[in-house]
Amino acid sequence: MPATDEPLFSPQEITDLPMRLDEAMQAHLAWSQRLLRCALLGEAPADDMLQNNAHQLCGFGRWFGTVSERLQKLEPVCVHNLETAHSNMHRAVRELYLAVLEGKQVDSYWFESFESNQAAMVRELALLKEQFVRARAQSDPLTGLPLRHGLHTLFAVRQADAERSGNAVFIALVDADHFKKINDSHGHPAGDAALVHLARLLKTALRGNDRLLRYGGEEFMLLFLGVDDEAADHVAERVLHLVRSSPMALPDGQTVHLTVSIGMTRALPHDSLESAVRRADVALYQAKRFGRDRLEWALD
Ligand code: GH3
Ligand code: MG
Ligand code: MG
Repeated sequence: MPATDEPLFSPQEITDLPMRLDEAMQAHLAWSQRLLRCALLGEAPADDMLQNNAHQLCGFGRWFGTVSERLQKLEPVCVHNLETAHSNMHRAVRELYLAVLEGKQVDSYWFESFESNQAAMVRELALLKEQFVRARAQSDPLTGLPLRHGLHTLFAVRQADAERSGNAVFIALVDADHFKKINDSHGHPAGDAALVHLARLLKTALRGNDRLLRYGGEEFMLLFLGVDDEAADHVAERVLHLVRSSPMALPDGQTVHLTVSIGMTRALPHDSLESAVRRADVALYQAKRFGRDRLEWALD
């Protein structure tokens, strides 16, 4: 997925999704129990048991309808299997139920279909939950940005891309200036909002394959390919300008002016991620020392 795409799920949704999947599972189990009651005790069936579109009416179906399109973009196979198993299961239940209502012999085919599709549904839900628990652990719940997971691999891939295409890999460490003062003067929630604000601004400076992550507390990392140092300069200047000229409005009407300092390095052919980041960090330290709201380079 290109880094500039709007994320499919908000940080809050990513946080909540495993719980929503558990609730969906619970709803499904409750539905099975109701079904059993109706079949064994002869109680009247509800709409989500006998109608042709029962799989869209049940608790799980209604919830899944609100997320399936977006989930499909992330986990197409899992979502397809889940939808198929779910609608097949409802179909089997309808057939079984009608047979009972009409006093006919129950066809074991439909019973086996019910059992296997219900098992498949439970399996696919567990798989989906696992994917989301993993995604949640790898992204920052505040800004929604990725954390450092996979950074070594990304760096190696970009190094190989750079070698092939005659570009260079650049690493920029972007650290908010005097951020402690924002927390101290306006409170921690305002500090959090400022980090979300910064993440949003930094995202607008990204192009296709550029990567932005939350590297630490009030520090972000930009990893990108560029034709030369001048191109990387432009990226950094754009970020500095954007942050400088985009004050943040607080709910109480006050305005917070933010700036960032940037330490930049170009990856050398045999650099490790650690050695490249170490240089960027030295450059960042220099940018702070020379007055902040500026870019500094370290190339060796
Ligand atoms: P400098 O310009 O030298 O970088 O100064 P600074 O105040 O930004 O740097 P310092 O390292 O002294 O303080 C960083 C502050 O960032 C302290 C920490 O509480 C705050 N911070 C880090 N992560 C978060 C967060 O998630 N939310 C909030 N509200 N504050 C955070
Ligand atoms: Mg700082
Ligand atoms: Mg810092």
